[in-house]
Amino acid sequence: MKTKKIIVASLLSLTAVTVFGQNEFHTSTEPCLFNQQHERLLNENEEYRKNMEQNEAFYQTYLKAQHQEEKTIKTIPVVVHVIHVGEAIGSGTNISDAQIQSAISSINDAYSKAGNFANTNGVNTQLQFCLAVQDPNGATTTGINRVNGSSVNDFTAHGLTTSGTNNEVDVKALSKWPNDKYYNVWIVGGIDGNMGGNGKHGFAYFPGTPANKDGAVILYNAFGTTGNLGSDNQNTTFIHETGHALSLYHTFQGDGSGSTCPGNTTCGQDSDCVDDTPPHMRTVATCNLNGTNSCDNNSANTLYMNNFMNYGHCTNMFTAGQTTRINAALAGSRAGWLTSLGCQAVTTGGGNTGSGAGITSTTADQTLSFSPNPSNGKLQVTIPASFELNSIIIYNEVGKIVKQFEMTSLTESSKNSYSIDLSELATGNYFVKINDEAKMNRITLLK
Ligand SMILES: [Zn+2]
Repeated sequence: MKTKKIIVASLLSLTAVTVFGQNEFHTSTEPCLFNQQHERLLNENEEYRKNMEQNEAFYQTYLKAQHQEEKTIKTIPVVVHVIHVGEAIGSGTNISDAQIQSAISSINDAYSKAGNFANTNGVNTQLQFCLAVQDPNGATTTGINRVNGSSVNDFTAHGLTTSGTNNEVDVKALSKWPNDKYYNVWIVGGIDGNMGGNGKHGFAYFPGTPANKDGAVILYNAFGTTGNLGSDNQNTTFIHETGHALSLYHTFQGDGSGSTCPGNTTCGQDSDCVDDTPPHMRTVATCNLNGTNSCDNNSANTLYMNNFMNYGHCTNMFTAGQTTRINAALAGSRAGWLTSLGCQAVTTGGGNTGSGAGITSTTADQTLSFSPNPSNGKLQVTIPASFELNSIIIYNEVGKIVKQFEMTSLTESSKNSYSIDLSELATGNYFVKINDEAKMNRITLLK
């Protein structure tokens, strides 16, 4: 009897430690610094204030226009700057390539309602992210830059700071790509001194932010789903911050730090400017999906508790209204991300194709059509009537030939239209080159 009691007591204390550990990583009422930085820029930077007004006016015009449901997949090039303090790759804050890749894979699931986020009430935003394969100079890249940040004042002791030593701009200046072509993500060992512990896990900025700050900052152990992680292994910090980078407010915007129901009347003040997200007070460490929302006539808690732009650790969805606002941002001041060559592989003078037929330009040939696109792999390639077709070559995202059709193996299925079967290839983005033309067209396969 006595032994049994001791075992029970030990189990209880173990459980208590575990729960405390998880909550500790999540209990800060302000795990994201977006609001603080946004308010600060509004107060201090006249140009930022004007940019926000212009963006909002554009979004409202965009929202009023009739939009076809977005079916085209849009891909945003991401560059990850790992600002470490001298550790070996994979150790401490110098997180591994695998951890970074897991973050990209997870955010792609989140924005397309797939994988761990498949069974939710949310929507597929049709948005995807690639680790850049082409750098700003047109050279091949892994999309990962590793820089020792210990030369920056206070970085080793307190990480990236937004007050006191306020070294944010200096840390970002260590490694930064043009923010109109790439989504910059900085991985750091601490934010305002928390050094991987409780408190601030990340922040990001709205489009229209000065280039020396624009992008996302994520704590090294709150990024990805595998590797050196705290208890947040769902990558929700990265997913959430990216929502800000695409103009999404918190769904609890205007809740007075969690003390009052937002009035839900003025966009950007007491409303998140999205119609299908109910006003609510933030939740941090709780996840009471069965309760009701006192700020919205007792609507179901799930309507806000699961939203990626809430806090907490049961977030798993975006709404249709948020998706429209994201698309407005991508049609407006983030448009450069979609015309960037960052996700398009580089090969010149043969490069890794070995044929001299590498990708020298990523301009699409508008006279060709690929249907359907995206497809499951079976699609039609239609060429102009006067065009003499010799070959169709398919490249993957790193510029490697994965499939090649010569004229002799192609059958014309209707006038100037040829069917090709790529269904053996994995889901992803590919590039099609007709004959030896310099132009490339992008296609997407979905399985
Ligand atoms: Zn936030």
